[in-house]
Amino acid sequence: MTDLTALTLAEAQAGLQNGAFTALELCEAHLAAIEAAGALNAYTKVTPERAREMAKASDQRLAKGEGGALEGLPLGIKDLFCTKGVPSTASSRILENFVPTYESTVTQNLWDAGAVMLGKLALDEFAMGSSTETSYFGPVINPWRRKGSDAALVPGGSSGGSSAAVAADLCLAATGTDTGGSIRQPAALTGTVGLKPTYGRCSRWGIIAFASSLDQAGPITKTVEDAAIMLSVMASIDPKDTTSAEVPVPDYRAALTGSIKGLRVGIPREYRVDGMPGEIETLWQDGVEWMKAAGAEVIEVSLPHTKYALPAYYIVAPAEASSNLARYDGVRYGLREPGKDIIEMYENTRAAGFGAEVKRRILIGTYVLSAGYYDAYYLKAQKVRSLIKQDFDQVFEKADVLLTPTTPGPAFALGEKTGDPVEMYLNDIFTVTVNMAGLPALSVPAGLSSEGTPLGLQLIGRAFDEATILRAGQVLEQAAGPLPKAEKWWLAA
Ligand code: GLN
Repeated sequence: MTDLTALTLAEAQAGLQNGAFTALELCEAHLAAIEAAGALNAYTKVTPERAREMAKASDQRLAKGEGGALEGLPLGIKDLFCTKGVPSTASSRILENFVPTYESTVTQNLWDAGAVMLGKLALDEFAMGSSTETSYFGPVINPWRRKGSDAALVPGGSSGGSSAAVAADLCLAATGTDTGGSIRQPAALTGTVGLKPTYGRCSRWGIIAFASSLDQAGPITKTVEDAAIMLSVMASIDPKDTTSAEVPVPDYRAALTGSIKGLRVGIPREYRVDGMPGEIETLWQDGVEWMKAAGAEVIEVSLPHTKYALPAYYIVAPAEASSNLARYDGVRYGLREPGKDIIEMYENTRAAGFGAEVKRRILIGTYVLSAGYYDAYYLKAQKVRSLIKQDFDQVFEKADVLLTPTTPGPAFALGEKTGDPVEMYLNDIFTVTVNMAGLPALSVPAGLSSEGTPLGLQLIGRAFDEATILRAGQVLEQAAGPLPKAEKWWLAA
């Protein structure tokens, strides 16, 4: 039999429909692959019994011709989504033993459509990071390696468990969340597709909050078509989330017509940053040529406030995080470290429960929100945010989508950027603007670096126009591919 884990979500769906294999076989193949890939550390928790149960139920429904949109398809879930009865840790010690009594809306949508849960995927603690090295359960390893080297590379972050698992065939697709780039950057670094939907498109209910005005769930997949399939199910109008948008969810797969004739593609001049490696520049130029060859009209555009996006993000995101994380005090959730009184108990719990990066964010956040600095930092950052949003509004009068690189470089080695937080933050330079403006964006694998590792291109769209970036993304994907897959070195050991 063919390797069932190598299938795309769409291929597996077709195979289940025509009876080429069962949901249980598909599930077993993935459980075995996960078992053999311990070296990647992608999963924080595998749920084999539950997966088998769900797959058997899917087989029964499929036999009766009753399958849902994702019937029998095994998925990995970022451990920031609360899953009922299954530990949901945010890869933090403080939530190590937290077992939710409820299910997030997004994951409920997936199970309602018949999907099978393989387990929970590691992330940077509380989704703060760009390398998945801050997970309490140890770093996740990128399945990709540099040519002629066996040095461990990071899978990006914070959805690094998700990106590594999809790239290594440890699930057919995964969920991620993106606050400043955490779906798109790990997708770019692992040769997978990452979609950050419009703010309000997917419900945030039941997702452990990082920065509530920026957080958005989305899929990491093997192909653009798979991203369209996943988004159609993940997205919904949810009365439980006050920021859920009352916009009907289209059939995103139907939007993949393969044609971008006459599409106006904007190239934002400010994304050509100082010190950008030549190969990123070349990749971007390739993207421009591919779009032109497919009949798009390419124009240069300007987003003048781009250079303020990263500093403003690193004020807004920590400010919201410091407020959101105040609830982890040893009283209601997870870890409790005793103390002589309640204050000391709070202090001991938070000191022991949070890692260094999370503490840094809480310190920055409380500082920029404090009485003396609120106007100088937080309020100023909010104003900058409005200007960034305005830039995009103006540009989208002339362009239908924007094309940029996803990241300023390929996957880096473990430990390479952990010493300098600013170095790490600079990874988000091309992705944070989109979160600040609430827009949708897609990262598509577009080529390999000189080191033989993946690079991605990003398409940014108008609010609630995921359909157009998916359509254009599939054209890019076809022009760039087929790209090789990561060699499965972990099987050889
Ligand atoms: N790397 C960014 C940060 O650390 C973005 C993280 C994310 O999108 N969750 O804040």
